[in-house]
Formats: sequence, structure tokens, C-alpha cells
Amino acid sequence: AVHLHLHLHYLLRPCPPARRAGLFSSPWRSLPPLLPPVRLRSSLPAPTSHLTADGTDESGFVVVTFYKLVPLEDPRAEVAAHLQFLQDMDIHGRIYMNQQGINAQYSGPRKDAIAYADWLRTDPRFSDILVQISPALSGHAFPRLKLRYKQSLVQLEGGSCHLPLVEPSMRASPLTPSEWREKLEARKRLDSEAAGDTSEGRKLLLLDVRNDYEWDIGHFEGAKRPNVDCFRSTSFGLSEQEMDSTDPLHGVDKEKTDILMYCTGGIRCDVYSTILREKGFGNLYTLKGGVSNYLKSQGSAEWVGNLFVFDDRLSLPPAKFAEAGEEGCADNGDLSSSRWLGRCYVCGSEVEELRHRNCASIDCNRLYLCCGGCLEELRGCCCSECRGAPRLRPLLPGHQRYDKWHLYRDDASVISS
Ligand SMILES: [Zn+2]
Ligand SMILES: [Zn+2]
Repeated sequence: AVHLHLHLHYLLRPCPPARRAGLFSSPWRSLPPLLPPVRLRSSLPAPTSHLTADGTDESGFVVVTFYKLVPLEDPRAEVAAHLQFLQDMDIHGRIYMNQQGINAQYSGPRKDAIAYADWLRTDPRFSDILVQISPALSGHAFPRLKLRYKQSLVQLEGGSCHLPLVEPSMRASPLTPSEWREKLEARKRLDSEAAGDTSEGRKLLLLDVRNDYEWDIGHFEGAKRPNVDCFRSTSFGLSEQEMDSTDPLHGVDKEKTDILMYCTGGIRCDVYSTILREKGFGNLYTLKGGVSNYLKSQGSAEWVGNLFVFDDRLSLPPAKFAEAGEEGCADNGDLSSSRWLGRCYVCGSEVEELRHRNCASIDCNRLYLCCGGCLEELRGCCCSECRGAPRLRPLLPGHQRYDKWHLYRDDASVISS
């Protein structure tokens, strides 16, 4: 099965086929490589304490993301030029290019990280690229540098090369974070009056196009997402007739509905909105720069919880993004003040820590949310079956992360309980 997870080949295997009974709606997922140690929430820098004025952590590392859908005539030559530029720099991450543009997520010392983005922006094709910077937790957030030509910039069944991605008119219209916030606030006012109908008889659908594990730790209030693990299993590949009636797009009036789509950084919406455009949806809007850009300028307004990120940090509270900004208009969006959101995948009770853990069973390694009680009882496993699995890692105190995958894999003496 091909999957739609954006850049998740490093984090996730394709969605496993079966869900097990007795669990909350979150499905089983397993992750191959382990995520390196991440500091305890309680030891994360407080909103203003250990961060330097420019939003870096003490090690001076930052995480940078950018993408641009633009025709590249000779992407392989571009890859070579980028590799050449980065050869003496300390950059780790995933940087992919093809005929449709570039998609990059990387970490490095601030100086190198910024120098690379600045270099790219000297190219007129990329002069207006939106570069997003957030603080690393401790050093690199990616294990190594992968910079290469890639068939599809976004993981999508059948690839995305056939889609007219570089044609801006085919994509959703980007809204700035403040425009987006206004729309959401207006929607809330209308919701309380006329159940989503605007005065002109228009409807508004707020659509989260991310995967369920991303949704589980944070999302916009009132957003909808299909009741499936992966977004690929949605109406995107289906005809109206096949569409599940629980799909948020089921029965939606393609002309009279404003569809507001969002994802982490924006590229998934650009791809999905192009697909929806081809299916005849007329009024598509997207959040420019995605949630990460929104949290930076608007704080946690309309947002509940944390943001899942596709690097070793896994989860960031809204305030982290504001800190990384030049102005630092952080509101009270830190984790402790977030409204309750997450539930333990095992027992369904509320979890405070909006950060996934890996199952202690090496052969499961599922990324899951867990309460303190279940964590103790299952010794870091995601279920009682895994608790009895042959290759278990020791339960780590707090929210430390397991050692590198291979240390367990290659170690014959891995603890068996
Ligand atoms: Zn529990
Ligand atoms: Zn497990």
C-alpha cells in the first residue's frame, strides 16, 4: 500500500491493516526507526527562559522548513548545486526536488541553516519563498542529510507528478494567518446563529487534511477530518458514489461551500486542493504556511493542543513557534494552559502530555499516546499483547526516548519480561 503520509517513510510504515477492538478510535501504527531522546516536557525551556533572543535553543540549533511548487527544468542539476553549497555545512534533514519544485525540512546551527535559506532566496524563482524557523530541542532534529531528486514531493498514491501542481490557479487560494483567523471567528459567530449557514446561504467546511495521529494531539476547533487513519483513504481517490457517508466531503455542495483546508506547513493542502479542483470544487482556501506559520503570528487562537512535527521533536506547543519569530508575540499558548485534548490510546483517559511514545516492543514500535497509569501497567507497551512480546525495551523514566534502533535490534540481550 502506498501512503499519503507526508515524508513519513522515515517515521512510519504504511498504515497496518487491522485495528484492534477495545481501543479508542486511534488505529495501530508502527514506526520503524526510533526517535532519539527528547527532553521531558518539564525540562523543556520555559517560554522565555533558555531561549536566546533569536529563538534558538542553547545549542544554537534551529529547524527550518520551506517548500515551493515551481517548475524546475533540470532538478538533478539543482540537487547537485545544493549539495555543493551544503558540503561544508552542518545540515541534516530531508530536502527533495523534482520538476515541480522543492520541499525541505532540516536542522542545523542557526548560522548554517539561515545561510542555506538565504542562498536559495538569491535565486529569483525562490525569492518569495516562505522560510519557517523553529527552535530545536537539542542539536539536530534529523538523523542525517537526505538531499535528492524525488519522484513525488508529497507521499501520494500514484505520485503527484501528473497533477498540475505548479499552476497556482489550480490550488486553493492562500489566506494569511490573520485572514484565516477572521474566517474562523466569523464562522463561530454564524455557527451560534444559523448552524454554519452564512447570510448568502453559503456553507463553510473546515477540513484537516493531516493524519489521525497528528490530529490526536492538536487541531483547529471545529475542524473535520475523515474517520480513517490516513488521509489517503478518503474521497480524494474516490468517485462520489464510492464516498463514505461519514466523509466530511460527502454531499458537500461544490459551488456553495467554502472549504478551508489546513496542514502543517501547507504543501499537502496545495496537493489536495489541486485534486479537489479537478473534481469540481469551486471555493478552496488554504492556510498560507500551514499551522506552523499560523501559530507563529496568531498564537493558539482557535487552536487546541500541540502541533505534531515530522522530526525528532514530535510535538510542539504553540508558544514554541512564536518564540522562534523575530517579534515574539507569544500569547499564553504554552502546553500547560492548553485546553484538554488528548486521550490515552489504551484506556481512553485524559493525557496531559501531548507527545507520542513508541511502544516498548521493538517489533511493534507503535507511536501512541499513553496515560501514566497505563504506562506503568503495560511497562511502556501499547497493549497487553505487546507486554508479552519477546523483544521488549526497558521502560524509560519520564518521557525519555529509546536508544537508537540498532542498539536494541543488534543486542541479543534485549530485556525480555
Ligand atoms: Zn491509559
Ligand atoms: Zn505495541
